[in-house]
Amino acid sequence: MLKRTLTTAATSKPFRLAVVGSGPAGFYTSHKLLKESPTTQIDMFDSLPVPHGLVRYGVAPDHPEVKNVMTTFDKVAEDERFRFFGNVTIGKQNDDNISKSIAVHELQRYYDAILFSYGASEDRQLGIPNEDVYGSSSARTFVGWYNGLPRDRDLKLPLEDTDTAVVIGQGNVALDVARVLLSPIDELRKTDMTEYALEALSKSRIKHVHVVGRRGPLQAAFTAKELREQLKLPGVQFRADHTWIHDQIQQHSDYLAKRRPLKRLMALLDQEQNKQGDKSWHLQFLRSPVEILTNNDRVAGIRYEINRLEGPVEKSRAVGTGEYETQECGLVLRSIGYKSLAMDGLPFDVQQGLIPNLYGKMIDHEQNEMPGMYTAGWLKRGPTGVIVSTMSDAYETADTILADLRKDAPMLSSQNHADDDLFQLMYQRQIRHVSYDDWKRIEAAEFQAGAKLGKPREKFTTVEHMLDVLNR
Ligand code: FAD
Ligand code: NAP
Repeated sequence: MLKRTLTTAATSKPFRLAVVGSGPAGFYTSHKLLKESPTTQIDMFDSLPVPHGLVRYGVAPDHPEVKNVMTTFDKVAEDERFRFFGNVTIGKQNDDNISKSIAVHELQRYYDAILFSYGASEDRQLGIPNEDVYGSSSARTFVGWYNGLPRDRDLKLPLEDTDTAVVIGQGNVALDVARVLLSPIDELRKTDMTEYALEALSKSRIKHVHVVGRRGPLQAAFTAKELREQLKLPGVQFRADHTWIHDQIQQHSDYLAKRRPLKRLMALLDQEQNKQGDKSWHLQFLRSPVEILTNNDRVAGIRYEINRLEGPVEKSRAVGTGEYETQECGLVLRSIGYKSLAMDGLPFDVQQGLIPNLYGKMIDHEQNEMPGMYTAGWLKRGPTGVIVSTMSDAYETADTILADLRKDAPMLSSQNHADDDLFQLMYQRQIRHVSYDDWKRIEAAEFQAGAKLGKPREKFTTVEHMLDVLNR
C-alpha cells in the first residue's frame, strides 16, 4: 500500500513537494522540511535506481566513515510522508531520451513545489589538444569507475602500460585519485571498491603520481586531513620543491598568521620526508597543461606552460611566462572540477554553472522569483563543498521554503494531485520506478555479495542487475 496516511485534507492542506536528486542536498532539505512542517509530503526522484548521489558514487571507498550519513538518509526515508522514486529521470539534459523521463512541465502538474538538487554530473574540460585520447580521462570518470557508477563501469585505462600518472588540479578529488592509484591493493580490498577495479588496480604498474597545479601552494584547494592521509601512504615518498614552498610560506607569513587552517596545511607541506619506498607522489606548481602528447594514439606525455603568480596572494592569478616544459607519462587524469548541466525548462547561469537563486528560491532571467521552484546543493552554489556544507546549504533552502509556507506565498499553480495520473504516466513511458524498500532489497543483496568476498558490500554496476534483484 502507498505510504501517505499522516496528513489528510481534513486536518490541513498537504504541501506536496517533488525533490529531484537523492544526494545529500535532497535528503537534508527533506529532513528539515519533514521535521518542521507537518503538512509536507515529499516524493524524491533519482535517475538511478539507487539513492545517495556522490555519497555512494563519489566519496572514496577508503573513507567508509563519511558514508555513515546514509543512516541519517534512511531515517528520513522511514517517514510516512516520504516516498522514493528511483530509476526516474527528470527533465531533458543534453541528448537524453525524453520518452523515458518526465519533463519539468509534466512534474509541475502534480506538485505544489519542486526542489532541484540534481548535483553536478559532468566534469570540466581543459580544452587542450588530445584530451580525449586513450590514457587521458577525467578524475570524475575514474572515480565513477572505481565506485561502480553504471555509466563509467567500462572505462579502460593503461594502468599496466606505464609507471607514471599525472593528475591535473590540486583539490581533494585530485588527492582521492592519487591516493587510490598509490594505495596498497590489500588495503583497497577491504573497502567496497568494485571487484573489476580491484582486479585492474592489482595489475597496475603506476608508481609515480604527479599532482599538478597552475598556481602555488598557498592556493592549493585540498585540505589538511586529506593531505595528511596522502603523506602517510606506506612506501610512497613525497617529492616537491621544498625550498620554493618554504620561501612562499615565509614570504606570506603575515597572511598565513590570520588563516589557521591554511597555516596548518602549509606546515604539513613544509616538512621534508625521509620515507623509504619505490613509489612517489610529486606536488608540482605553476604549470598549466597546453597539450597532451601522444604516441600511437595514446598518452605519451604532457606539455605545460610555466606560470608566474600575479596579484595579491588571496586572489593571485596564474600568468603564462611563455616558457614550456614536457613531462613523460602514460596516464593523465584531469581533476579540475565537476559541472552541472542545464535542464530544459529551468533557468541556468552558464558562466557560474548553477541555477540562479535567492537563498534557494529560483530566479528567472528577468530576476523574478519563481513560485514553487527551489534548488539546493551543488546545483545551487556550484560544484564545491563537503557534505557538511551541502547540509547547511540544504537547510538554508528548507528555511526559504518554510518561510514561503508561513506567508502563504504563491506556489506552482497546477492542481493535479492525483497520484494515479503520475503512476499512469510512468507506466505509459515504461519507467520501472524503484521504491526505498526496493532499494533496501538491492542493498541487502549487495551486502550479501560483499560478505562472500570479505568486504562491506559489492555494488551492482548495471541498472539491469539492480532491477534483477527486484524480480527474484
Ligand atoms: P549529488 O550528491 O551529486 O546528488 C545528486 C543526485 O541527483 C544524484 O543521486 C544523481 O543521480 C541525481 N540526478 C542527477 N540528474 C538527475 C535527473 N535528471 N533526474 C533525477 N535525478 C538526477 N564530501 C565529504 O564531506 N567528504 C568526502 O570524503 C567527500 N568526497 C567526495 C569525493 C568526490 C569524488 C566528490 C566529487 C565529492 C566528494 N565530497 C565529499 C563532496 C560531496 O559528495 C558533495 O558535497 C555532495 O554530494 C553534494 O550533494 P548534492 O546533493 O548537491 O549532489
Ligand atoms: P576543487 O576543490 O574546486 O579543486 C579544483 C582544482 O582544479 C583546483 O586546484 C583548481 O585550481 C584546479 N583547476 C580548475 N580549473 C583549472 C584549469 N583550467 N587548469 C588547471 N587547474 C585547474 O574541486 P574538486 O577537487 O573537484 O572537489 C570538489 C569539492 O568536493 C570540494 O569542495 C572538495 O573539498 C570536495 N571533496 C571533499 C573530499 C573530502 O573531504 N575528502 C574529497 C573529494 C572532494 P585553481 O584554484 O587555480 O582554480
